[in-house]
Amino acid sequence: MTILRCVNCGQPLTSEVALGEPSRGAELMAAHEIVSPRMDAGTFEVDFDASLLILHPDDVPGSAPHPDSRRRSGCCGFAGQDGPNLVCGGCGVEVATKESDCWTDNLVALIVAATDVAGSGPLPFPLPDE
Ligand SMILES: [Zn+2]
Ligand SMILES: [Zn+2]
Repeated sequence: MTILRCVNCGQPLTSEVALGEPSRGAELMAAHEIVSPRMDAGTFEVDFDASLLILHPDDVPGSAPHPDSRRRSGCCGFAGQDGPNLVCGGCGVEVATKESDCWTDNLVALIVAATDVAGSGPLPFPLPDE
């Protein structure tokens, strides 16, 4: 288990999380319904190029909505198509993109480069060098 922290100010961004598997595959979406979260609470996965960590939407209590409303666009939730829409609750740097709209996935994608991997404790996977 680890808590992922902001690389800029050290504030914890996530709950205690551990590497896991997606809790579901692709789901057919009904009109204006938000799909169930891709990840179970407390788990995350690494995206294909190790630039993002995919988390349950409730596992980033240390983040805050982006102050720019254009980043928070969406129909029933956050579309997440206009750049990062979550910032660090401590220092305000962009840390993640939340998708929770009726036509998107339901997840938070934490930016690895915005995460203090070394200060977050040992992660159960290797990250590529910058
Ligand atoms: Zn909608
Ligand atoms: Zn911060």
